[in-house]
Amino acid sequence: MVGGGQLARMTHEAGIPLGIRFKLLSDTPQDSAAQVVSDVVIGDYRDLDTLREFARGCDVITFDHEHVPIEHLRALEADGIPVRPGADALVHAQDKGVMRAKLDELGAPSPRHRIVADPADVSAFADEVGGFPVILKTVRGGYDGKGVWFVRTQEDAEAPFKAGVPVLAEEKVDFTRELAANIVRSPHGQAVAYPVVESRQVDGVCDTVIAPAPGLDAELAGQAQELALRIAKDLGVVGHLAVELFETTDGRILVNELAMRPHNSGHWTQDGAITSQFANHVRAVLDLPLGDPRPRGTWTVMANVLGGDYPDMYQAYLHCMARDPQLKIHMYGKDVKPGRKVGHVNTYGDDLDEVLERARHAAGYLRGTIVE
Ligand code: ADP
Repeated sequence: MVGGGQLARMTHEAGIPLGIRFKLLSDTPQDSAAQVVSDVVIGDYRDLDTLREFARGCDVITFDHEHVPIEHLRALEADGIPVRPGADALVHAQDKGVMRAKLDELGAPSPRHRIVADPADVSAFADEVGGFPVILKTVRGGYDGKGVWFVRTQEDAEAPFKAGVPVLAEEKVDFTRELAANIVRSPHGQAVAYPVVESRQVDGVCDTVIAPAPGLDAELAGQAQELALRIAKDLGVVGHLAVELFETTDGRILVNELAMRPHNSGHWTQDGAITSQFANHVRAVLDLPLGDPRPRGTWTVMANVLGGDYPDMYQAYLHCMARDPQLKIHMYGKDVKPGRKVGHVNTYGDDLDEVLERARHAAGYLRGTIVE
């Protein structure tokens, strides 16, 4: 796996019971996955020679992030190395302009959008979609809300153009909530769909995920799953695909973006599904039969733990573990910095309010925003 973040750490964990030998290319020995994987190469994924050297002896290469340059992926493929997902699929997760164009071609529902040339063109786009505000996104390099601007005037529209990357304008969608349709697909075309989940963001960062999305119309849920399966098939995705969606106030779903790797909206599956997203990602990239994606219980809630004031979790652990013996804690071994994702918790049960409260309490306590 290329990339040493928490997704690699948890993918490695899921491969252990399958007896998979896992090799990691990581930026530094301190990275989340590099701390726990025994076969680690420290190096720069942007360097083709490093990637080639790393790939030697690997049966298959997969990714913790979407940032490996496409031309390097194509070079590895030309060397005969199975790259999963492959370059032709991953380009859609790397570049929001390419993704939108492809989704249009597939007839997948998107917010109205187009590439804009400059602030005056943003104004023209705003006129086309019924006025400001509009959303601007740099087509590459964004994550956790960085690279996304809510723009209310033409003057506001200058900042996104400073990065020197093409800028995509989107209508501001009136949505009631954000959903994610997560599926896993293997090279020979087997695919499984997880229940559609609700994802709640705070300050552009995923805060809580509820599985399944409460009150979601069964037909709309089915449409979302079918859409994700169709996108995966048409783009040739192998492994886990997260399709982030908006549920609009008028009862439609629109695609926000695609992620071709295990995803934060699928962390609940570690404790709430028969087969986790990580285990199924490993199975898919190795072209093994996929595991059952169905939930184990009625409700599962995932809450992210962000870094707060306490670098030492010991006291918080005592409290959280004693208060809720069913709580599942997943920490990433990262240094605690304010606002950084350092772990998550999963809770499950039959009463959604109670399950939500337990997850929020634990995540807040571990962060230090809840003290009793
Ligand atoms: P990132 O790549 O940083 O995850 P996203 O494209 O997912 O960026 O956007 C981050 C957040 O901005 C979304 O979760 C959503 O809340 C908001 N957002 C993005 N696009 C739109 C849109 N077209 N209309 C309304 N809100 C949007």
